[in-house]
Amino acid sequence: MATLVLGGAGYIGSHMVDRLVEDGRDVVVVDNLLTGHRKAVPENVPFYEVDIRDKDALDKVFEAEDIDQVVHFAASSIVPESMENPLKYFDNNTGGMIALLEVMLKHQVKNIVFSSTAATYGTPEENPIPETAPQRPINPYGESKLQMEHIMRWADEAYGLKWVALRYFNVAGAKADGSIGEDHPTETHLVPIILQVALGEREKIMMFGDDYNTSDGFNVRDYVHVMDLADAHILALDYLAEGNPSNQFNLGSATGYSVKQMVEAARNATGEPIPAEVGPRRAGDPDSLVASSDKARKVLNWTPKYDDVETIIKTAWTWVQKHPHGYEDR
Ligand code: UDP
Repeated sequence: MATLVLGGAGYIGSHMVDRLVEDGRDVVVVDNLLTGHRKAVPENVPFYEVDIRDKDALDKVFEAEDIDQVVHFAASSIVPESMENPLKYFDNNTGGMIALLEVMLKHQVKNIVFSSTAATYGTPEENPIPETAPQRPINPYGESKLQMEHIMRWADEAYGLKWVALRYFNVAGAKADGSIGEDHPTETHLVPIILQVALGEREKIMMFGDDYNTSDGFNVRDYVHVMDLADAHILALDYLAEGNPSNQFNLGSATGYSVKQMVEAARNATGEPIPAEVGPRRAGDPDSLVASSDKARKVLNWTPKYDDVETIIKTAWTWVQKHPHGYEDR
């Protein structure tokens, strides 16, 4: 029996595939390679270049492989892009989920672990945010992920589909040996951009807004290491395999860092000066997003190994130094 990883050639998906292979599990990868990299997936792992919205192609994958559980990373995830092009998000993310579930149910595959997001909470009333907080997204990315959660809830009611939604906060870092890492066609995320500045590939980092309602005025996020995230997915798969009910968990470190603190941590981690400037706010950004991850720790027994951002940034720095042009250098 194999675990199907959708979006397994992407940043988080490739770390998940690595972790599953390390665990000795059978893995099958589906990715449309629009933002993922073939080189991020080991040669000996069955790989299908398929878009999840293409039901016929996906159906053939389920026919060819002996799949018993699914991990779903294949979605668009850039907040600013979603503000400019919301329909892309509803098509790819929400539409993709409907197509995927139809094919899964046709093949009697009923366990899915899915990437949700802190962006479903919008501007939270409290930080750290518990899973029970109201979900009121303030950007189409968060809205599309919330729709995906709702679709799964009703699919459980109607068809007995069992799901775990893992609500990620800000994922960063790379496998410690620097063999796989973060490489997006257009980089918008804070840590990789800061490291491009550290490398000398960009002149400076623009910090988006210093007038947020936080202690230093810069907005605050909760950074979690990608390998810790992969561990949580393994635990979630096993949780479902044991017959437990559908559930949702926040995955974060429970500690918030402002953009300015992240730049400072990156200066320490890399030893580089990293020039920074304050720019205007970016659309769709809430002040502060920090996870309460007690539930994942208690119910899934999740114990993140990386609990400080400097170490997280160091692992990303190893990847960036080894692969300054991402997978092109691999
Ligand atoms: N950010 C920034 N400059 C950049 C990129 C991001 O100041 O060049 C800020 C952004 O406003 C947010 C934080 O860094 O507060 C994390 O943004 P990212 O895009 O990495 O993740 P998101 O929170 O959107 O998922």
